[in-house]
Amino acid sequence: MSLTSLLFALAVQTPAIPLHTCLPELRRRAAYSGLPAARFDALIAGHVPDATVLALLDAQPEFTTAVWDYLAALVDAERVEDGRARLRENADLLQRIEAAYGVDPATVVAVWGVESDYGRSRGSRVLQESLLALSCAGRRQPFFRGELIALLKLIDSGDLQPSAEVPLTGSWAGAFGQTQFMPSTYARIAVDFDGDGRRDLVDSVADALASTAHYLQRSNWRSGQAWGIEVQLPRGHRGSANRRDTAPLSDWAARGVRRVDGSPLVASDLAADRRAGLLLPAGVEGPAFLVFRNFEALFSYNASQNYALAIGHLADRIRGGSEFHTPWPTDDPGLSRAQRRELQALLIARGHDIGEIDGRLGPRSRAGISAEQARLGWTADGRAGQRLLESLREGG
Ligand code: CA
Repeated sequence: MSLTSLLFALAVQTPAIPLHTCLPELRRRAAYSGLPAARFDALIAGHVPDATVLALLDAQPEFTTAVWDYLAALVDAERVEDGRARLRENADLLQRIEAAYGVDPATVVAVWGVESDYGRSRGSRVLQESLLALSCAGRRQPFFRGELIALLKLIDSGDLQPSAEVPLTGSWAGAFGQTQFMPSTYARIAVDFDGDGRRDLVDSVADALASTAHYLQRSNWRSGQAWGIEVQLPRGHRGSANRRDTAPLSDWAARGVRRVDGSPLVASDLAADRRAGLLLPAGVEGPAFLVFRNFEALFSYNASQNYALAIGHLADRIRGGSEFHTPWPTDDPGLSRAQRRELQALLIARGHDIGEIDGRLGPRSRAGISAEQARLGWTADGRAGQRLLESLREGG
């Protein structure tokens, strides 16, 4: 198809996106990156930009998730059990990955569990279509142009082999596969660990898990070291709650910080000179942690403190560790995914149209939750915790 006919076919279908100026620019940039214009045209042929992602680019999350709600769904009994099963099933592979990259099996499996629910949940938007829209409209076009071209080059090289029947899908912003890498990260970090000549983070568990370990290794993961430990602060503790203000463990010990079981901080598994920072994800009333260098490696995966905490905690739980010792500072704790599904069934039984029961509390579930809160005379904030679940269970 010529560029003119391609442009015409696409422009007719997506009047909101200025393809007539954007596509020639994308072709130039592709050619500059080593992808000839004819290959570029062939790789986007048949894909119509998905303009619906543009609204998501500018959406301000009207609902901020409390850390205890975030952790309750990400590190629930199901994900811990699934993680232990994946650890057993892939024991040999994970051992070889640890030998190659120095990252332990439970950490690799925890990233897999949080990123894609162990490969089950990878996003359903066709990548070329979201990235075309984001490359040609909206406020981050230069960034997304780089991602689109990185994706097309991965297809061109044969690493990725989508077909008309099985297109490449991912999140609205272009993260995809078992590890939810962006295309440019994929290009930089992905490895072919099963030796079939392709870096396939969509269908090869070996490639995906090894690439996760490679990512952490490149983020200065230190083999055999913990991400952090839960601690107890002395009464009336003062000082920085910025985890990046690090000090040697001996200093923290001198300030009266102890492990949650009351034992001294410095012991055979943690040397006095190990540097740590204080993490208080819910303020001084909630659980407190001393975090080490590996916490920063986990943080780099998604630039979120709560994300890094979820990975570290899930890995600990998969290894048989316990829940946090100090409760979250709330009288209405968050819901696991099983409880979210139960809540959704109860909302449906009460006539709310919340869509499918999937354990995700999206806008329609939140509307149903708000309606029930209003009926109960509670603040209708759309947030569901244990209290609402119990009330609906009892028919309240
Ligand atoms: Ca491979």
